[in-house]
Amino acid sequence: MKRRDFLRLGVLGAAGAILGPAELAGAAKKASGPLPFPAPVYRTLGRTGLKITVVSFGAMLTPEPEVIRTALDHGVNYIDTARVYMGGRNEEVVAKAIKGIRNKVHVATKIRSRSRTKEAMIEDVETSLRALETDHIDVIQLHSLTGRERIFEPEMREALLRLRRQGKVRFFGVTTHTNEAEVVNALVDDPDRFFDMALVKYNFRSGEDVKKAIARAAQAGIGIVAMKTQAGGYTTDALGPISPHQAALKWALSDRNVTAAVPGMRDMAELREDIAVMGMRLTLADSLILRYYGAAVASQYCHMCGKCEETCPRGVQISVVNRSLMYAESYRSPELARATYGGIPPQASAAACLGCGRCTARCVNGLDIAAKMARAREMMA
Ligand code: SF4
Ligand code: SF4
Repeated sequence: MKRRDFLRLGVLGAAGAILGPAELAGAAKKASGPLPFPAPVYRTLGRTGLKITVVSFGAMLTPEPEVIRTALDHGVNYIDTARVYMGGRNEEVVAKAIKGIRNKVHVATKIRSRSRTKEAMIEDVETSLRALETDHIDVIQLHSLTGRERIFEPEMREALLRLRRQGKVRFFGVTTHTNEAEVVNALVDDPDRFFDMALVKYNFRSGEDVKKAIARAAQAGIGIVAMKTQAGGYTTDALGPISPHQAALKWALSDRNVTAAVPGMRDMAELREDIAVMGMRLTLADSLILRYYGAAVASQYCHMCGKCEETCPRGVQISVVNRSLMYAESYRSPELARATYGGIPPQASAAACLGCGRCTARCVNGLDIAAKMARAREMMA
């Protein structure tokens, strides 16, 4: 079932808390209908001072610029893209969407994880500027950090400072799906407070350590944007026709230390569903939906914590393989899945499992790692 086929439950109130999945579905049916575009709601992105819409635009899955443009026409003013999305074409889609209104929109993009030298990072930004058809990037982020080391690299800082002196980038950020608490805490502990913001995997399945790190960051003036708010966005029959998407978004935004979320919006239906959340509050019914949904996807959803990796004798990057699999199976984006999987060194990909024998890697959340690695091998072959 595709996401747009689900019903939304945003308008159900506290009464939903006493309902089971079937009753919730019935109530949702009555509550469903065309979703209006809401008045935009803004929060400030830490010390950048940028006032951005709490539901901003994650462009990674959006093939049509018109979808992004419609959001912008209704007040959304922050777009998150990256060099690697859509095989390098995503920034071009964003360029078409912002044509003629560049000064009304804040654009965030990313330097690829494999670009480690000063020259490579600068070349990435120059390429992004050309693709986005703009003379500056509002927020440039180091893509996909998994630990604290990279935050302190002098060569990286030199490159970013040079780009800022040249007026090509305004603010610095990082993104993280793994070890989020360590990465965010390192930004706070950095005596130079070099980075202005972080794009962080944050959802109703996240641990207390991530929540606390986000609170520290907000306190320190480091803006927090939430991604992967849908905990994989897997489809499940457990909720019948109810969509958990609005509830999951509301959960992330109910944390006032989060400035905004950037859900990926593929088409107009997803856009309407997501931006309708602006101005809504998390209800007891939402919490119930998230409980049912979380239980239903528990055997599929990888927290990308990386804790299993020390139990794999061959050093397979299990969390990244699982993220690639999620892009393929849930996000329905084979391109992104391949780009992510392609970034793993071959000796640390799922191919390294061949001939390993019995899998000794252990998931702290009970996922069947061997099965996931086998599926990834099959899909990425
Ligand atoms: S089968 Fe399991 S233990 Fe063996 S390499 Fe793969 S993930 Fe590691
Ligand atoms: S497979 Fe399990 S332990 Fe490994 S990253 Fe995913 S959730 Fe963490």
